[in-house]
Amino acid sequence: MKGYGVVKTGQPGWLDKEKPVPGPLDAIVRPTVLAPCSSDTHTMHGGAGPRENLILGHEAVGEVTEVGGLVRKFKPGDKVVVPCVTPDWTGRYIQEGKYNAHDHGMMGSFKFLTAKDGTFAEFFHVNMADANLVSLPNDISPEAALMTVDMMSTGFHAVELAEVGYGETVVVTGIGPVGLMAVAGSRLKGAGRIIVVGTRPNCVKIAKEYGATDVVSYKDGDIVERIKSLAGGSVDKVIIAGGNAATLTQAVSMVKPTGIVASVNYYDAADTFTIPAFMWGLGMANIDIRGGFCPGGAVRIEKLLNIIKYERVDPAKLITHRFDGFEKIEDAFMLMDKKPADLIKPAVFITW
Ligand code: NDP
Ligand code: ZN
Repeated sequence: MKGYGVVKTGQPGWLDKEKPVPGPLDAIVRPTVLAPCSSDTHTMHGGAGPRENLILGHEAVGEVTEVGGLVRKFKPGDKVVVPCVTPDWTGRYIQEGKYNAHDHGMMGSFKFLTAKDGTFAEFFHVNMADANLVSLPNDISPEAALMTVDMMSTGFHAVELAEVGYGETVVVTGIGPVGLMAVAGSRLKGAGRIIVVGTRPNCVKIAKEYGATDVVSYKDGDIVERIKSLAGGSVDKVIIAGGNAATLTQAVSMVKPTGIVASVNYYDAADTFTIPAFMWGLGMANIDIRGGFCPGGAVRIEKLLNIIKYERVDPAKLITHRFDGFEKIEDAFMLMDKKPADLIKPAVFITW
């Protein structure tokens, strides 16, 4: 079968691979709508270490083509939403009641891109289908559903990590699709002021629609003093959904004692964080620095779909570019890599 991914680190391209085979609990799915993610392009460039002959992609809605002998809830022909994180629910961390994004270790539940080929393929494999797949609801558009599997789950996870509460002042650095979902999630959790950091006009516009109250450009000099002056002092929470290693230093510098810095950013393997001790309250200010990975599994995605169904948030607004046809995965991926100013999220619609 054909798939699109990393030929070798830094070189994207089409690949020929064997069609995957389901184990007893697994399913094989054909994508009908899919989206590239910043993490796909970052992985192609070697951000998580060298990769070769790997099909990329981890965001998809599709149709089941085959199931293993022990799968009870799904059959060929079913339309499904596929979480980008598909835990092995027997995993050790999960049995310890820890976050489901880590089953047997760091990001162990992220099977696409790390343990196997991804969704930019004619067919892809989903482990533990009954616990990881969700039926696509009739009253939710496939593209809105597609935005739950990573963008919404990750952006909302940042809000969960930050423990955003009623009336709080929250800073969201980065208003790409993940940060925009963190803005929407912060509003749902009752944040008062939501100060966002970003520059692209369409992202700024949507950030305001999702609930941003103030916008600060990181291109106009140091953001810390400007944000503190806007907020009249340190802020309750800082969510990081864009930027670089220095963004973490800035976040720690603007959060108040007892505050939380919550990052879902994908830093580079070569990055090092520098945090001046004074900024971190000499280690005694109860400032939590948290980093987290997108939660997955069926229940998580069902709940996010409910938020769409009852019109709390419309994540389909994130899709700015549409492509038709399997072969257009390449164009969508290259667009994601170049990130023109008007791009938030591309989606590829496929009819088989
Ligand atoms: P985008 O690249 O679309 O958005 C990044 C944002 O960061 C933009 O708004 C950009 O602003 C802003 N930015 C860039 N440089 C700085 C800076 N120095 N200071 C402050 N803001 C800055 O990314 P996505 O929304 O797609 O993803 C965000 C991050 O989340 C990525 O690192 C991605 O890999 C990661 N990710 C993590 C997941 C997880 O589970 N933890 C899952 C999915 C994604 P502007 O556009 O104005 O330049
Ligand atoms: Zn992603």
